[in-house]
Amino acid sequence: MKSRIEVVQGDITRMTTDVIVNAANSSLMGGGGVDGAIHRAAGPALMEACMQVRQQQGTCPTGHAVITVAGNLPAKAVVHTVGPVWRDGDAHEAQLLSDAYRNSLQLVCDNGYKSVAFPAISTGIYGYPKPAAAEIAVNTVSDYLTRHALPEQVYFVCYDEENTRLYQRLLAQLS
Ligand code: ADP
Repeated sequence: MKSRIEVVQGDITRMTTDVIVNAANSSLMGGGGVDGAIHRAAGPALMEACMQVRQQQGTCPTGHAVITVAGNLPAKAVVHTVGPVWRDGDAHEAQLLSDAYRNSLQLVCDNGYKSVAFPAISTGIYGYPKPAAAEIAVNTVSDYLTRHALPEQVYFVCYDEENTRLYQRLLAQLS
């Protein structure tokens, strides 16, 4: 699986993968961090698409994911997933974070897309400890890839050096 996963440091809005994943909140109405950056770069078409999803299905629960157009982004589509807010580790955070990655991958696969870029979901404003979050991200993605042909390629886009180092170390340990 190692060859199908790459770590890059930078801004996810610049990624030319078929899909980029947004660390959204349940409202799907935008926010700070990577969510704000994605909406700014995508322009109003993305907010319109999110509002349509809201009208159709209401809010997006934690661990779930939805897919929309990508507006002005180089990507073809955006998957919006809601990671857990870190509380004390006893509020099913690990399961919910894993669900967020798996449900995002499922949407990418179901829509026939070949490549996807993930940010380090929940490790900003939502306060998930970065080492634990990185381990869940890498394990969930590599497990998914062993059982599915799509996506062919997954990129972890790290904004900060701490996450970049954590992901690189975990990837080096994968067989
Ligand atoms: P959450 O609310 O899920 O914690 P944040 O957006 O606050 O979401 O942070 C998630 C991660 O995304 C953090 O590690 C943060 O450093 C990173 N991040 C922020 N902006 C960008 C960006 N433009 N591209 C990639 N990652 C980003």
